[in-house]
Amino acid sequence: MKTAVYPGSFDPVTNGHVDVIERALKLFDKVIVAVGDNPGKKPTFTTEERVEMLEESTRHLKNIEIGSFSGLLLDFVKSKSSSIIIRGLRAVSDFEFEFQRALMNRVVDDKIETVFIMTKEHYVYLNSSIVKEIAMFNGNVNGLVPHIVEKKLKEKFSKTNAQ
Ligand code: ADP
Repeated sequence: MKTAVYPGSFDPVTNGHVDVIERALKLFDKVIVAVGDNPGKKPTFTTEERVEMLEESTRHLKNIEIGSFSGLLLDFVKSKSSSIIIRGLRAVSDFEFEFQRALMNRVVDDKIETVFIMTKEHYVYLNSSIVKEIAMFNGNVNGLVPHIVEKKLKEKFSKTNAQ
């Protein structure tokens, strides 16, 4: 049984993330999506909100678990009896950062492998920050994020904009 862990901020989950999860499920028996905090980013949504949105957005999928972690990703991966990390690749701009992280993880633990999955061309330009920017100014994010996320973004930014 091959279990892979797909870590990220998922702040919030986009259709690009869901596309990567669906592709990963074709390669592995089980995928654990792990919500963590990237020290370089201040999250808009709480960990609980991000987990809830992921759960709703992946209800149509089997063999998937949504979790969260704080601390070292490698410890989380091992605690799930896995040795595989999945990361999504969009464009060349992702490459350097992802390459460094994957190699560092392997230096720390040689048994860990990182597998990169390329998203559908349609989602190459998509990331959580762009989606939040559009939503903040009342733009239409339909087709970029799951319905639950569209709803939560509206709630979040109507509150912020009203303040
Ligand atoms: P992080 O802060 O860890 O980069 P993100 O939620 O931004 O977390 O991204 C999680 C993973 O998903 C990363 O590997 C990122 O490259 C990938 N990813 C994000 N958006 C997309 C997308 N549109 N298509 C493919 N992969 C994506």
